[in-house]
Amino acid sequence: MRDPKPTLIRPAPLAGGESAPVGAPIVPSVVYEAEDPDALDAQYEGRRDGFAYAREGHPNAAALARRIAAMEGVAAGVTVGSGMAAVSAALLGLLRAGDHVVGGDQLYGRSLRLLSEDLPRLGIATSFADAGDAAAVEAALRPETRMILIEVVSNPTLRVADLEGVARLARARGLLLAVDNTFTTPRAIRPAGHGADIVIHSVTKLLSGHSDATLGWVGAGDPSLLAGIESFAVTAGMTASPFDCWLAERGLATFPLRYDRAEATAAEVAERLAAMPGVRRVVYPGRADHPDAARAQALLGARFCNMVTFEIAGGRAAANAFARAAEGLAFAPTLGDVGSTLSHPASSSHRGLTEEGRAALGISEGTFRLSVGLEEPEALAEALARAAQAAARAAA
Ligand SMILES: *Cc1c(COP(=O)(O)O)cnc(C)c1O
Repeated sequence: MRDPKPTLIRPAPLAGGESAPVGAPIVPSVVYEAEDPDALDAQYEGRRDGFAYAREGHPNAAALARRIAAMEGVAAGVTVGSGMAAVSAALLGLLRAGDHVVGGDQLYGRSLRLLSEDLPRLGIATSFADAGDAAAVEAALRPETRMILIEVVSNPTLRVADLEGVARLARARGLLLAVDNTFTTPRAIRPAGHGADIVIHSVTKLLSGHSDATLGWVGAGDPSLLAGIESFAVTAGMTASPFDCWLAERGLATFPLRYDRAEATAAEVAERLAAMPGVRRVVYPGRADHPDAARAQALLGARFCNMVTFEIAGGRAAANAFARAAEGLAFAPTLGDVGSTLSHPASSSHRGLTEEGRAALGISEGTFRLSVGLEEPEALAEALARAAQAAARAAA
């Protein structure tokens, strides 16, 4: 980028001089100056790099998009204002009325809602199928199916998708496969290497990692796919804030360290939880008793992520006691923060389902989902043990 040009109203802009900043600069500017109309033509025709208007793109969004694309091993991506903007842009930028989409039946709640309520309103039909069962996904296909959308690990049941099977199916039928990799992150799996055409992130979560930036990212190897997605994102105004992009880029610098540490602690805490009185069940893909243990091992290697789901005995009263007694843990419906967070699906992400609907997924009033952060494992296990004791007293 050139140094800003002095104007009548801003006669003395910051100038870089001969020295370059080591920390990434933030560029909040909404507009960018070009030398002349020919320069703008060159820019819009892709013969020259540059920016014109921040809704269409800005340096902080571009820098972040490039970094995540490199981590995911895809050619390019676009940064947008939230994870849901990423999901929405991937679907609405590529689908048209008359198309049909198959979504995993345990997608993120708002993705389920986009598919079940908004796409049909726009003439795009949708169906849901178990992403862990490629035959079920195949049975949901129609002649007009255009795309399949899945997540690698489901929330909060932590079931592992049959990514290989679904990718084979998508390839055989000429369908687009979009994979939301928010939970698993490129540290556990890079879906593009397993046949995904489109990769989606809520950057808000582990990649950014500090619960202070709301952002999303969509990547695609095929430039024509990405052009459709990006064009829709620009038109719909899904622009990411430069400051949020800057925070996320800062977070990315420590992402591999944070991820590895949180994952190791999650494995340890899962074992400790399983031994606590009043804990009925622990769901962690790295445990031998996980229903998809073999697939998790094959697909994710030893990367079983930082999420642990568990069930305590005693219903809502015990759940209230557990949340209140879980000192030092935020009872907050997010994941991937530097601090561990505890969520209760029955009263948050899955409150829209009936009790029977939740039971069918294995979610009860005693189910909690723990997003493991960077605390000392011992301190975290002790806080959970005290909460489990309080829950057991409430249940008695
Ligand atoms: C949080 C989340 C989203 C949505 O992201 P926002 O940044 O909150 O809009 C989408 N998919 C998954 C799997 C998520 O966890």
